[in-house]
Amino acid sequence: MVESLAAGLLEVIGDSARVITATAVVDRLSKDFYWYSPVLKRQLADKVGDIVVQLRSSDEVLAVARFAGRNNIPITVRGAGTGNYGQCIPLHGGIVLDLALMDKLEEITPEGVAVCEPGLRLAPLEIEARKRGWELRMYPSTIAKASVGGFLAGGSGGIGSVAHGGLRDFDTVRAFEVVTMEAEPRVVLHEGPAVHEILHAWGTNGILTRIWFALTPAVAWSQFTVAFGTFEDGFLFAKMIAENGAWTKRLVTVFEWPIPSCFTPVKQVVAQDKTLVLIMIATEQLDALQAAAKEAQGEVTFSGAYAGPRTQPLLSDYTWNHTTLWAMKADPSWTYIQAGFSPSRCMEQFRLLRERYGKEILFHIEFMKNGEGVIVPGAIPLVYFTGEDRLNELIAYCREIGVFIANPHVNCLEDGGRFRADNIQLIAKQKYDPRGLLNPGKMISFHAEGQAK
Ligand SMILES: Cc1cc2nc3c(=O)[nH]c(=O)nc-3n(C[C@H](O)[C@H](O)[C@H](O)COP(=O)(O)OP(=O)(O)OC[C@H]3O[C@@H](n4cnc5c(N)ncnc54)[C@H](O)[C@@H]3O)c2cc1C
Repeated sequence: MVESLAAGLLEVIGDSARVITATAVVDRLSKDFYWYSPVLKRQLADKVGDIVVQLRSSDEVLAVARFAGRNNIPITVRGAGTGNYGQCIPLHGGIVLDLALMDKLEEITPEGVAVCEPGLRLAPLEIEARKRGWELRMYPSTIAKASVGGFLAGGSGGIGSVAHGGLRDFDTVRAFEVVTMEAEPRVVLHEGPAVHEILHAWGTNGILTRIWFALTPAVAWSQFTVAFGTFEDGFLFAKMIAENGAWTKRLVTVFEWPIPSCFTPVKQVVAQDKTLVLIMIATEQLDALQAAAKEAQGEVTFSGAYAGPRTQPLLSDYTWNHTTLWAMKADPSWTYIQAGFSPSRCMEQFRLLRERYGKEILFHIEFMKNGEGVIVPGAIPLVYFTGEDRLNELIAYCREIGVFIANPHVNCLEDGGRFRADNIQLIAKQKYDPRGLLNPGKMISFHAEGQAK
């Protein structure tokens, strides 16, 4: 079967170097960072595509979509494969559509909108944008590897979200062109509110081929770390900086001890037994921030300029979901949850969790702005994994005490916590992929035409 598939795809794109059947490569390009979750690790380890095809243009995407549709073959799109929930792992074999070669930055408009192909990585985009006086509004801590298309289809926010919210907010994603999987695939432009039909839908209802992504004017940033004797002191200082609009910041992160002990390459910024607060602040406010930190009894452990994604040390490499990676390196039993604490009840929520779970849960806070403009203590707490039942019980308890959870231990859009309640992603799938060939199995509320519900 793989041979005939390879022959068919070769006929479509005419370049054997980009039709890959070598098992080791197909296996690798079928996987992402799903192993972050001990639950998904067990569920997805044996799932692979049948073949990988690397495409160079939207015309090739259209041609492969036509070929796959005619032959009833599933397509799973791959950006850089840094997703955490097995989003780009094919559950039913078929074609892995690797778009890494579609990496052109077409232009940055005078209004600061990057127009690019989906395979463009975020780091080159940030570097190029900064040269022209712009920068990314937000990016995941995987900036060095992750692609723009994968971020829009699988990510949610990151460094910059404290000022600009998530990908869903404030018209950051202006428009994109999407190849459909209809009987006759076509390119459809989604603009304005229509982007939400496809955004963060894991490539289940369309293939992004061209993107309009809004930037923000560049700021001269500095990286700053300060240590506090208790989690409460560190948290309250960080909250004050995050919530006060007078501070120009890109990142406000809190790690309770012993999380910082896992950051072995940057030991110099870590203070033994102390909570660490990490802030990216406008360089012009660095002196004022230092004074505020000292007044709050903090011990400043680092301050230095950020000159782009190649800065060393790049402290954002320890934030967002990189924190979990460092903890897993120290002890593979650490895993994580994705949470949103209540701005008004967070101290009580921390206390309740500590009373019930002790140091089985460690607080890692990432402040972010929500779509209403309110600064909330987002969080990616570490959880010591002792079994699936215990993990699910902890998630249920968080929800019981009003902590929002986007569960990263599930492999379908609906249960992950960011599915659209207005069903527009599902309606778009029914329209653009009625046979259910795009990343099948990931949108479980969808049933293909003629398929029993
Ligand atoms: C260490 C670590 C830290 C992370 N930190 C963050 C973070 O701070 N914030 C955050 O949001 N995420 C984070 N993530 C998750 C992940 O990095 C981001 O979601 C990233 O943006 C994914 O980009 P990618 O190119 O690797 O996408 P992939 O993993 O390749 O794909 C992600 C999803 O998008 C789909 N897709 C890819 N390209 C297209 C396309 N052109 N059209 C349609 N669908 C497509 C795939 O099928 C898949 O479902 C982190 C992950 C790791 C491992």
